Amino acid sequence: MSAPELKPCPFCGGEAEATNYVIEASVACKKCDATITKEHGQYDDTGYDAAIVAWNTRADLCDPTQDERVRALVKAAEAQLDYMDMCNDAGDLERNLRAALRALEQG
Ligand SMILES: [Zn+2]
Repeated sequence: MSAPELKPCPFCGGEAEATNYVIEASVACKKCDATITKEHGQYDDTGYDAAIVAWNTRADLCDPTQDERVRALVKAAEAQLDYMDMCNDAGDLERNLRAALRALEQG
């Protein structure tokens, strides 16, 4: 079995590792021990895939920059700010919005 593709830990950025046990499976961060555990089904070991999906889903939810819709919104807001710049200085509103967009892009 090849190693599953696991996203970095959403809490510390550490590397994650999936482990299959008899009655359950888990994905855990090697650095901070954040863990997701899923039980296997009665007749199969579906917990392994379920734990991997849950881990990667949480990582996406904690990192909005992975969401295409968020990226599109940031791009549109930046274009609007650039247009506003040509007309006049929007002051604190513009500076605050640009800072929020930068923070979002950098995660
Ligand atoms: Zn971690």
